[in-house]
Amino acid sequence: MPSEPGARNTALLEVAGLSKTFVSGGLFGTSRPVVAVEDVSFAVDCGEAVALVGESGSGKSTIARILLRLERPDAGRIVLDGDDVLDREPRHASLSYRRRVQMVFQDPFGSLNRTHDVAHHLARPLLRHKRATQKDVREKTIVLLHAVGLEPPEEFISRRPYELSGGQRQRVAIARALAVDPDILIADEPTSMLDVSIRMDILTLLTDLKNERGLAMLLITHDLASARYLADRILVLFRGRIVEGGPADEIVVSPAHPYTRALLASIADVGRLGPEPAEAKVDRIDRADTADSSDTGCPFAPRCPEAMDVCRKTDPSYRTVGSRRVRCHLYPENAGRSEE
Ligand code: SF4
Repeated sequence: MPSEPGARNTALLEVAGLSKTFVSGGLFGTSRPVVAVEDVSFAVDCGEAVALVGESGSGKSTIARILLRLERPDAGRIVLDGDDVLDREPRHASLSYRRRVQMVFQDPFGSLNRTHDVAHHLARPLLRHKRATQKDVREKTIVLLHAVGLEPPEEFISRRPYELSGGQRQRVAIARALAVDPDILIADEPTSMLDVSIRMDILTLLTDLKNERGLAMLLITHDLASARYLADRILVLFRGRIVEGGPADEIVVSPAHPYTRALLASIADVGRLGPEPAEAKVDRIDRADTADSSDTGCPFAPRCPEAMDVCRKTDPSYRTVGSRRVRCHLYPENAGRSEE
């Protein structure tokens, strides 16, 4: 996707033209290509939070895996602070890149080793990335626990994951990511496995870290309410492509793409962080589209209440709608096309 109007020219992380197709195996030797990510471009500035919002199958997890160098894209570039990271072989996904781009996973219990205590989980990255010496590692561990609100830190340092609540485990996972002083944190559904009462605390912690440390964040979520709370900009993904991108408040208050509207309609109150939205309901929308869409035209056309003849014949390009980019025939393509 071209950059949004007013976007800066230089970014901390720049993703351009990322594409990935998997081949799914079938019975009797049949196989078919499944496009997971298609020509995805976006940028994250220093201290900025960007949310990639989409349902299961939208490609957001594949993008996260590519950014973590766990998957190689078929096409595209990833530039971190001016350095094209895909130029290197995966094994050379440098220690420096791994330090600068850290991940917080969905399942805080699964991401921590139950046999090791909190001190071990934090000491390991501190020592490996030379952020501490054996002499001061305990002191730096305590500083990290304090930073993520586990107070008093001395009470938590020798606990094992099963001696912590879900929210406390996620705080340890965030502290572990912070241990190496990253530039950008990729948070993959960081609250979806937590109790409703704790969800807001974790989002507030992430917001404070962003504001106080200037930490850039890429939030990967199916939840527009969380995205609106944390992110400066939202990018809506549908079937591997960004269909709408722009300032978070604008997208939530006046969604331009019919798919974004469908996502919002599935949430009772996007301003309130209650139970996570009815994912199953929206997921059905997504799967149904996948099942009966054709190869030409807009992929959302079979379900779009506003579909026109042109939608079934021609894949829409990006268009400028105020400060947003929208991939939809409902809007004139003048300004958008000139910048593509
Ligand atoms: Fe709906 Fe047409 Fe827009 Fe696709 S291009 S979202 S079918 S109006």
